[in-house]
Amino acid sequence: MSESPPPAYQDLPSVSALLESAPSAALLRRWGHQLTKDALQTVLGAARSTMASGVPAPTAIALLAAADAHLEQRTARGPRPVLNLSGTLLHTNLGRAPLSPAAMAAVAAAAGPVDLEFDLRSGKRGQRDAASEALLCALTGAEAAAIVNNNAAAVLLVLNTFGLGQEVIVSRGELVEIGGSFRIPDIMARAGARLREVGTTNRTHLRDYADALGSDTGLLMKVHPSNYALVGYTSEVSLAALAQLGKAQGIPTAYDLGAGSLLDLRRYNLPEEPRPQDALKAGIDVVTFSADKLLGGPQAGLLVGSRKAITALRKNPLYRALRVDKLRLAALRETLVQWDRPEPEKHLPTLAYLLRPRRELSALAEALLDPVQERLGDGWAVRVVPLESQVGSGAQPATRLESAGLALRPTQGGPGAALEGLAAALRALPLPVLGRIADGALLLDLRTLDAPETLLKTLAELPRTEP
Ligand SMILES: *Cc1c(COP(=O)(O)O)cnc(C)c1O
Repeated sequence: MSESPPPAYQDLPSVSALLESAPSAALLRRWGHQLTKDALQTVLGAARSTMASGVPAPTAIALLAAADAHLEQRTARGPRPVLNLSGTLLHTNLGRAPLSPAAMAAVAAAAGPVDLEFDLRSGKRGQRDAASEALLCALTGAEAAAIVNNNAAAVLLVLNTFGLGQEVIVSRGELVEIGGSFRIPDIMARAGARLREVGTTNRTHLRDYADALGSDTGLLMKVHPSNYALVGYTSEVSLAALAQLGKAQGIPTAYDLGAGSLLDLRRYNLPEEPRPQDALKAGIDVVTFSADKLLGGPQAGLLVGSRKAITALRKNPLYRALRVDKLRLAALRETLVQWDRPEPEKHLPTLAYLLRPRRELSALAEALLDPVQERLGDGWAVRVVPLESQVGSGAQPATRLESAGLALRPTQGGPGAALEGLAAALRALPLPVLGRIADGALLLDLRTLDAPETLLKTLAELPRTEP
């Protein structure tokens, strides 16, 4: 075998030659100088490495096209719509709660100049979250409320406001980790508070809190364990008992509730979920919860409680660093209004998805069966299957919602690589479709599908592949 000639790198144009060439004008108009230059450097680097394995130098036109494609791909990232058929309603990786159409419209309407911190009646400065505060108070019975970036921020603000340089008493059974990066002891340390653990993992009594009280106690705190459940020989102190202890000793009490449904979910035959209004009624001074879990709103942390507690939170300089922007306030206001309307599940997608009965989803699956089979071709067997969806985001971890959907299996060979291939092809669609692989099939859970046409129109773009 003869040696191949060394790569002719001198045939590659330079970045500046490419930038000055006439055909680059379209690229520069589209992306600007900095991005184009950066992309050309990348594609020239890639060309050099393929030339090292004997491929001839690409033409200038090919390099410009590659730079365009590179920029297209790099900037295509970032929140883009997907079809969540994963069976997890509130999927943190997929942006949690979908907003209602009214909340979406409110976001768009708030994009320009708004009366964010301006009172149109008096012409004076106003409070940015006044509307949502009024709604939260009316819906939960709180004296006052405040809104911050997310629930982690709400907890940080509470701990820093009442626990800075002091002790915060928490039960050992409630020192939880939520979603990997949110751990109560870590947040506590960053908030400048000292953790005082009381009780044991499975049992904590009121006397454990009472015995730990001292001159440097700043706060008594309870945390809803959210994504795990204590069963068996367990005991925890009720909110009312803790609130009473706090009041008797003049120590504020806080409850990190997590998911925050405003309705009693037992009304819909779902397990009980603690509600902020119940915690306030029990006498807790400040309750924190997420706006984008069961509440079905935008990402935000909601703090409801006594006027005294909320005033103290608002005075903390950290509040300014954790505050929420006008777009999310617009969405939150709309979401809260919908909770009080008759049949809120007609307005709030999260609630609607939570309550969809299996028979409705089975009917949807039956209607989709033939057209989806037709779109996928002979290489795939499509079946209607009963499924179980979950709430997600740490809410109701033990709840399984009876659901239905489609199972896609290759007609020949083992499922392994074929399933991964189909999953990748579905992710590559203009509206990426996200199912889950389980039981040797790609499962599409229809609980969160609004209209069958959405899925069919999307699948029409699927290139025919044999498994
Ligand atoms: C989800 C959750 C958090 C974190 O809330 P984010 O809104 O994700 O910041 C904190 N505490 C509890 C109990 C939770 O369930």
